[in-house]
Amino acid sequence: MKAVQISKPGGNWEIVERKIPEPGTSQVRVKVEACGICHSDTVVKEGIWPGLQFPRVPGHEVAGTIDVVGEHVSTWKKGQRVGVGWHGGHCFVCEQCRRGDFAMCINRKVTGVDFDGGYAEYMIAPASAVAAIPDDVPAEEAGPFMCAGVTVYNALRNSGARAGDVVAVHGIGGLGHLGVQYGRRMGFETVAINRGNDKEELARKLGAHHYIDATAADVVAELQKLGGARVILATAPNGPAISALLDGLSPGGKLLVPAAPAEPLVINAFLLFIHRRSVVGWYSGTAKDSQDTLEFSALSGVHPMIEKYPLERVAEAYEQMLSGRVRFRVVLTMGQ
Ligand SMILES: [Zn+2]
Ligand SMILES: [Zn+2]
Repeated sequence: MKAVQISKPGGNWEIVERKIPEPGTSQVRVKVEACGICHSDTVVKEGIWPGLQFPRVPGHEVAGTIDVVGEHVSTWKKGQRVGVGWHGGHCFVCEQCRRGDFAMCINRKVTGVDFDGGYAEYMIAPASAVAAIPDDVPAEEAGPFMCAGVTVYNALRNSGARAGDVVAVHGIGGLGHLGVQYGRRMGFETVAINRGNDKEELARKLGAHHYIDATAADVVAELQKLGGARVILATAPNGPAISALLDGLSPGGKLLVPAAPAEPLVINAFLLFIHRRSVVGWYSGTAKDSQDTLEFSALSGVHPMIEKYPLERVAEAYEQMLSGRVRFRVVLTMGQ
């Protein structure tokens, strides 16, 4: 099979021929049709993940079809369309797993980081890490739902915001353009915040009731005109800009952080406690959460905006993702 690997920190993309792998016990083999490129793939490219072993095939926004099931796999069968996301399985026996909180498993694995991922024609996944793809979601759209999608969908649905609450999405990019769609379809009064107005029309088309241009308006004042945001989903990779959003929250509001900007957040503790606000992180979701994301997206018409590249053009595709010019997700396709 054809695969794309990185064999040292900062190494180049290598397109290689590999033997098609066989699934072990409780694993399935997926014939990959599409795999999104996520900013987190930089942890493999640059070799900055603790314990990372090379060579490694990255890719954790995988969509394809099961073509072999391993021993003791009873719930999945050959021919089923499935996705594999960031959550690459859990141990079932640690303290967190015993409480049923599989995403927080202390032995959890990350797809395309701890084991080879979807930048290849085939991959092996634990049966506990696959999600069924609804018939009407094409593979190239299913891919981005497996990381970007589940992250924001799961963050918002667990945020405590209720229908009618003001929910703001900061940053209209890979995560944000999905966040706006989910916010609207979950029944929130949805606010899109971005620098400049070149994405205003699009943000409104995706479902934003309000748009705030952070270069032209006082974001905090604009949010307070709406009564303050119950939740601000901070997706722009900019620590100081996220920190400055705190006072745009309503009393009891949450600044929800599903990704890490390079710089630390600096939070004014007075503005935090005096209005009983909080800053909370959100981490991805399990395969079942991903399946919920796919099903909700199919049901309510949420679509990622994607640019497709064949696997062979991985270097160009990765550069396009890093450049920030992409609208909004780069997806590798396996060229059947
Ligand atoms: Zn990702
Ligand atoms: Zn565990």
